[in-house]
Amino acid sequence: MPPVRQITDCPRPATRTTTRHSSAQTLLWEVHLCDRHQHLAARLAGSRHPNHRATRATRATADPAPRCGTLHDHQAVAQAVESHARLWLDLPSAGTWVESLRAAATLAAQVHAPDAPALAGIAAVAESGPDDPAVHARVLELLAHAEAHRASGPPPPLDPA
Ligand SMILES: [Zn+2]
Repeated sequence: MPPVRQITDCPRPATRTTTRHSSAQTLLWEVHLCDRHQHLAARLAGSRHPNHRATRATRATADPAPRCGTLHDHQAVAQAVESHARLWLDLPSAGTWVESLRAAATLAAQVHAPDAPALAGIAAVAESGPDDPAVHARVLELLAHAEAHRASGPPPPLDPA
């Protein structure tokens, strides 16, 4: 099963569904977004322009509408890692996707990012089997978890009761 990602912290139901296919017409991803977050479909497709042609592969979301930000990601691991970089991950370009993830973990540690330990763990998993499909699946699952955590923001401060 491809990972299901949550790319916004928006509580609204999605209104529009956008799909992206490869040049060979295999499904790369399908994202469900509300009107306010439509621009993320173009960003996911790698365009800074909201009128990118990817947004034309958009239709009304079928009932029952999933929550805004639900992304079914069918991409291969290197492509999926790139898409995380487009949305939230500070990913230095450092050769392979495994090397880039390690560089991202190092960078996050240097700036004391809250998710630095999580990114270090993801890089270690990636390095344990760069060609192993089970490792790819685990890396994508962990990245999806870190992404959803990032989208929902830091935990609220404790109530000094
Ligand atoms: Zn939304």
